Amino acid sequence: MSLEKRLEGKVAIVTGGARGIGKAISTRLAAEGAKLAIVDIMLDVAEATASEFRASGVEAKAYAANVAKFEDAEKTVAAVVADFGRVDILVNNAGITKDNLMLRMTEQEWDAVIAVNLKGTYNFTKAVVRPMMKQRAGKIVNIASVVGRMGNVGQANYSASKAGVIALAKTTAKEFASRNIQANAVAPGYIITDMTAKLPQEARDAFLTVIPAKRGGTPVDVANAVYFLVSPDSDYITGQVINVDGGMLM
Ligand code: NDP
Repeated sequence: MSLEKRLEGKVAIVTGGARGIGKAISTRLAAEGAKLAIVDIMLDVAEATASEFRASGVEAKAYAANVAKFEDAEKTVAAVVADFGRVDILVNNAGITKDNLMLRMTEQEWDAVIAVNLKGTYNFTKAVVRPMMKQRAGKIVNIASVVGRMGNVGQANYSASKAGVIALAKTTAKEFASRNIQANAVAPGYIITDMTAKLPQEARDAFLTVIPAKRGGTPVDVANAVYFLVSPDSDYITGQVINVDGGMLM
């Protein structure tokens, strides 16, 4: 008996796909047969991950792009279509934090986070919908955060950006449902990665007190939810948010 790989022949763009949660998502999609376009702001970082995938037999290519720049998004998507012939999946994963209490938050901190997390998601979504419409199929997943649904002290910029990507997924879902393009969001809670390793120990301990599962999540936990939302199993699911948070927000 040969088990079918569910994403065989599909081409997936994963922004911030070179490390952390993005790399786990790339790994999960590749395990199901997807070809990977790994986007990172630094070409050498993307290339190192892409070559790791190629060494294990996955068709993967690195693309340097600052997601905050619309021109970079357009060029990247055009290059992916030229290189692979199509684009079936977009995972808007690239994201940054610049935490500060509202009273201390600078305009630069606000602008930087909105530019990468929210505008970056708009930029890549806008760039892929045309080729996806032509194909009459596409899957878009925005990586949000539970703080985009509940707010968080010290994260005015980040929580607003993540609320924004949830709304953007819903609007994309409504505008393109009739073209067979599904758009959803995944909202991770506290996931153990480089991003959360930067948090002070007290902040990490505080998370565990509000997580019924009593542990942080792993990038693989997030990748599994993303896989479901880009697989044929979720073809009738659009405009939804799946929390991956050990029960933190219900
Ligand atoms: P990391 O910081 O580990 O990885 C983020 C990736 O995005 C890096 O590869 C980074 O590249 C890339 N990136 C950053 N800015 C840009 C840019 N302007 N253009 C292109 N690529 C960029 O983060 P995580 O893996 O922890 O997070 C991934 C996503 O999950 C983010 O959207 C984050 O907000 C979200 N999330 C994470 C949670 C957590 O607990 N970790 C919780 C909730 C949501 P480089 O390294 O070269 O700068």
